[in-house]
Order: sequence, then C-alpha cells, then structure tokens
Amino acid sequence: MKKTLCSTGSHSSITQSAVNRRRFLSGMGALSGLALTGHFPHYAQTGATKFAADPFSLGVASGDPLPDGVVLWTRLAPDPLNGGGMPSQAVTVKWEIATDERMKEIAQRGSAVAAPEFGHSVHVEVKGLKPGRWYWYRFMVGSAVSPIGRTRTAPALNARLERLGFAFASCQHYETGYFTAYKHLADEQLDFVVHLGDYIYEGAPAANRPRKHNSPEIISLEDYRNRYALYKSDPDLKLAHAAFPWIVTWDDHEVDNNYANDVPEDKQTRSAFLERRAHAYQAYYEHMPLRRSSLPRGSELRLYRRLRFGDLAEFSVLDTRQYRTDQPCGDGNKSLCPEALNPQATMMGAEQERWLFNNLDRSKALWNVIAQQVMMARWDSGPGLEQRLSMDKWGAYPAALNRFLNLLRERKPSNPVVLTGDIHSNWVADLKADFNNPDSAVVGTEFVGTSITSGGDGMDMRPDVEQQMGENPHIKFFNSQRGYVRCHITPKQWQTDFRIVAAVTKRDEPINTRASFVVESGKPGPVSA
Ligand code: FE
Ligand code: CA
Repeated sequence: MKKTLCSTGSHSSITQSAVNRRRFLSGMGALSGLALTGHFPHYAQTGATKFAADPFSLGVASGDPLPDGVVLWTRLAPDPLNGGGMPSQAVTVKWEIATDERMKEIAQRGSAVAAPEFGHSVHVEVKGLKPGRWYWYRFMVGSAVSPIGRTRTAPALNARLERLGFAFASCQHYETGYFTAYKHLADEQLDFVVHLGDYIYEGAPAANRPRKHNSPEIISLEDYRNRYALYKSDPDLKLAHAAFPWIVTWDDHEVDNNYANDVPEDKQTRSAFLERRAHAYQAYYEHMPLRRSSLPRGSELRLYRRLRFGDLAEFSVLDTRQYRTDQPCGDGNKSLCPEALNPQATMMGAEQERWLFNNLDRSKALWNVIAQQVMMARWDSGPGLEQRLSMDKWGAYPAALNRFLNLLRERKPSNPVVLTGDIHSNWVADLKADFNNPDSAVVGTEFVGTSITSGGDGMDMRPDVEQQMGENPHIKFFNSQRGYVRCHITPKQWQTDFRIVAAVTKRDEPINTRASFVVESGKPGPVSA
C-alpha cells in the first residue's frame, strides 16, 4: 500500500505546496459562497487569506473509525512553529473523501470551518460511509491542496470478522531520536493504529541529543500548539497518520510529567496548573482526530471511549490521568506506604470505572481490549524481601487494581487483553487474579509497548530487569529497544509482534520482529510463539 501514499511523502508535498502557493496567491477570493457545515456555523465570514507557505505543513490524519464514518483532521499552519501563521479570522476548508487513491470516485465532499479559537484545526465527522473498507481523503483551502490520506471504516457491528490488524505505539520524545519506526509502521498491513500517550513531551531542550525542542517548558496555549506543530512536522509521523485511522489517548507528558488530576509535578498552584491543563487539553484536541464528544470544556476533556470491530473486538480506551487520585507515597520506586492502601484510591475516577466495568460486563465481543497508559502487572524491583513498586503505576493503587482484577475473575469478560505504554520498554505479562498470591489464576494478558524514541536507542535486556525476573514470574518477556507493537486478531488467536528498530539516534534504520507471543481464545495468558 506504500505507493498509494506517495503524495504524502515529503519530496512530492514540498513540490506540490510550492505550486499551490503560487496558485493560491493568484487565486484569492475562491473561498466565498461555500455552505458551512463544521463546528462553528456562526462563522459566515471568511477572511481574504494569504498564505506565506503551505497551510498543510502538519499533514492530515483520520481517526476513531465507526462502521459508517471516520473523523478527518488537519490544521492550517503556514508558519507552524510560530503560532501557526494564520490570520485571526475563521477560514472555510473544503474536504473530499473518495473510494480510490486518485480521488476520482468521490464518495462525499463538504466544507468545514477552521476557527482561530481552535488553532485553525479542522475536525470533520464523516457519516454515511460503507463499513470495513478503505477511503482516501484530502482538504483544500483556496488553491492549496493537502496531501492525500488513507483511512478505513470499522466493520459492521454484526460482521463476523475473521481478522483484524492494528499496531500500538507511545512515547515519542522528539529530541531523543528519529521517528523511523513510523515510516515502517506506514508500510504495515493494518486496519488502524492505537496511540497510548506521550505524543509530545513538555520539557525544555536538552544538550547532546539528535534533535531539539523549540522552547522552554511549555505552559501557554501557544507553547503547546508550537510543540505539537514541531512533532507533527516530522515526515515519518505524517506518513503514519496518512496511512491509517488512529485511535488516540494521552498519558502525562501531554500536560506535565507524572501529573495526577489537578496535582502537577512542578511547583504550580492548583489554579495555575488547571489553567495549564486547559491549554494542554485544548492543544491536544486541536491536533488529534477526535470527535465533538471530546471537545475541551475548560480544564476538562472526555477522552475515554469505546470502539467496536464487528463481533471480534471491542476497545475500551482509558484516561488514567485526568481523574486519578494523587500518587499516594510521592513519585519514584519504593515500598507501599500506608496511604497506598486507601480503598478510595482510583486510577480512572468512579464514573469511568463504572463505564469500563459495564462495557466489559455487557460486551459480546470475543476479544476485549483495554487500551491504557501505565503498567498493571506487578513489577517488584526490590531485591529479596524488599518490595519496591513504581508509584505512578497500578501497583501503587492496589484498591483500584484489585477492583479491576476482581471484575475479570468474577464476571469473566471474554479474552481480556490490556495494552500499555509509558515505560519505554516491551513487556509481556500474565495478569494474575491476585499479585500477592503467585498461585492465583491468570485472568488476562498485558502487552506493554516500547517507545517510538523516548530514552534513545535502548538495549535488549536491562541488567536491573534481568536480575529481578526471578521475583516476578508472571513477566514473560522484556526488551527496551524502540519501535511499536503489531497485533493480529482472529477468532481463535491473538498474535503480538514486537517490532524494533536497530537505533533511533541514526536515521533510516531497518525494523525487525524481536519476539512474538500468542494468546489462544479461552486461555488467558500469553505464550511465546
Ligand atoms: Fe513516555
Ligand atoms: Ca523483592
């Protein structure tokens, strides 16, 4: 499918945008007279906009596939690293979606408003498409034309699906390496991509890294916009977005390292932090292919949601940052302090937890996927009798973890598989009914995916992990190189392939499969393939 994407490649889009720029500057006024169908129908007026450069510098994306539609995304940003470079007026953007890669067989077209209040981002919720098939789409503003993206609708809800393929990724620190993994990901045969957070990092530039952040630590809305623009300018990331619909959720670095609900890592007051969180959440919405149901409301944004793929799989996508109780014993790795045993401790908040448990209890899907952020399986990094757990993960919230594990044990949802990001390493784990009891049943499987770049090149086995493997017998695999995780599901079996690049501090490294694991339907727990 690579060749269908050639118009999104960096070389052709540079040429194309130069042509577009000339044509656009000579063709002003073409925007008037369009029917408005976007978020902001009150913007009847569009300014006479002149772009100094390609307004589609951040590429295109699509996401959250339904059987009859997807979200199409772009953001107009002719000067992406300096606030976008757009005038203060709203601008009408035309879009079209076709059944062929050359955009000849148009299935639908329309227009949407790119409003300054949302950074001139565009979110189109296309409806009325056919289930389980590929589409191609693009945007036009004046005479500027975006690259062509490819997307795919979900299968019909009652479809008896024989196969589903996707990949999941997380943690793409711009400074610590090149997004080579995404170029390889764009070549995979997949139905969609799941992103588990740390899409950006909030920090200031650091010395001696292959690439550089564009500002000190980000606080304001403009800071966050410019940081997303830096990341989204990456050609490999643009390729991966243009190749598949994405299902995204966030972790901490989209706002601030290890934040919990309204508690920051940095020394900010609660109100200052909530203002910062509002900026961060808004910029996240502006740069992701999300539905209106995720429109930011002040410092809140509803991100948790469910996606279904025929009778084969249901994805519950979680947000374990916005509603969690604060890390009970401070950050870092340590023994649980008494406060950790608080039965009120929560990772999801009461409402999301009820929602998830209801999903799992009522689901008719064969595979029930929980796409979330931090590791669930216990990792005791304390040698011998000392038990040392990471305070940011589920293990430091035992009441919340046990409510989830009890649900798996008691209600037995079909084939639960947890997907996790956050820790820049690949792990495969049995989920035990009770991690305090090594003899307790295996009630599910967890696959933790490594980073795209965060942490630099990494290594295969880490000495500190190797040393503790014997104390954590439910852990079946570890690797800390960079890449993504590819999954193929059939009614009989789940297969996970850990795809790793040789290095990220050098460009254009090849990709390989480091290990593969399978889960047989009806038999919880992963087995080496
Ligand atoms: Fe990370
Ligand atoms: Ca120990």
